[in-house]
Amino acid sequence: MSEHADGEELYALAAKLYPMQRSLTGAGVRETFDLLSEYLPLRVCEVATGTPAFDWAVPKEWAVSDGYIADEAGKKIISYKTNPLHVMGYSAPIDAVVSLEELQEHLHSLEGQPEAIPYVTSYYKERWGFCLTHTQRNALKKGAYRVYIDSTLKEGSLTYAELVVPGKRTEEILLSTYVCHPSLANDNCSGIALATFLARWIMSESRNYTYRVVFIPETIGSLVYLSKHMDEMKKRTRAGFVLTCVGDDRCYSFLPSRDGATLADRVAQHVLAAREPGYIAYTYLDRGSDERQYCSPGVDLPVVSIMRTKYGMYPEYHTSLDDLSVISPQGLAGSFAVHKECIGALEHNKIYKTTCVGEPQLGKRGLYPTVSKKGTVGDAQLYLDILAYADGTRDLIDIAKALRVSVSHLFEPIAALEAVQLLKSLD
Ligand code: ZN
Repeated sequence: MSEHADGEELYALAAKLYPMQRSLTGAGVRETFDLLSEYLPLRVCEVATGTPAFDWAVPKEWAVSDGYIADEAGKKIISYKTNPLHVMGYSAPIDAVVSLEELQEHLHSLEGQPEAIPYVTSYYKERWGFCLTHTQRNALKKGAYRVYIDSTLKEGSLTYAELVVPGKRTEEILLSTYVCHPSLANDNCSGIALATFLARWIMSESRNYTYRVVFIPETIGSLVYLSKHMDEMKKRTRAGFVLTCVGDDRCYSFLPSRDGATLADRVAQHVLAAREPGYIAYTYLDRGSDERQYCSPGVDLPVVSIMRTKYGMYPEYHTSLDDLSVISPQGLAGSFAVHKECIGALEHNKIYKTTCVGEPQLGKRGLYPTVSKKGTVGDAQLYLDILAYADGTRDLIDIAKALRVSVSHLFEPIAALEAVQLLKSLD
């Protein structure tokens, strides 16, 4: 399928995900998994409120059905029903009449973006609050206001979903995305759509690696997941990717693992350098998603993030402006192609060693043109260059880097060299 058609499919899924009212827990997450189950054979798991996960515990389950601020005449100034971002995430219920002064303590707006409703949550402290545009806030007059939020915070569970696609090897590649943001497109409908379509593509043919794809609420979800699977993941994971902010059509960005030199770092940097040399390289100090848990000391998984514009770095981030106009089929298609190329490189990545002392005679193996013809001498040079670096210590990514070509450029010549026994892989 063409990159363009791929992008349209990813965008269509992101658009279906966009209206769902996700939070750390609750109906929006389950609705999300109902939809994704039409695409993937997901295993959906529930973990009870209070279940410990390292230094944390699964929070109460939150549900909200309505919320508004009304003036003295009963006119609703903002309402959950017009935009769910108006009610602060995890807000406690309230039904009271308060002064403007008291109301102000519970309002969130952005002075620098007066037309944006900020996305604000209060997961671990029970309080009530509303989010609104700064313009709406400035229009509030002195007086009394009715504040009403119909929400519940009670014992329930945290929902996550996983999919393990077995390959020939037990070693694994991890794909992780989060499913806890309400109507925000780039952060995080784009990541969910990419994870879904990457998983479908992975399942479409037999693979060397086993793939573990997880859909979790951010932070508490990765902690809960690690608390159940850390030992096997530490043993098996060779590379991992946190998928987030992959839908806009601006720059590409790279966030390394804490180690900075894992297989995941090497393949991502190589693919980006070959395809998108203008990408922005961040450091681990700029981290902000589930790599914070996956790469933490004692966990030490090789997990990186390849994004379009990184979270926190685009003006619409965590506001009502991060809507479906921020992401595009082209933006999503680019991210899909980059991640597929990383996975393709990992699938082919082996340490290679030449079987010959000195340069081999390519001609007698049919690899060197006996008649000089335009183009063919270039192939012969590529064979010699591969063999020159195939010293038994370098893997495919190292060799591609030394030759200044993309990994995928070497798949065919390596197969040709293996076919005539000039090259062998060591694993
Ligand atoms: Zn976010």
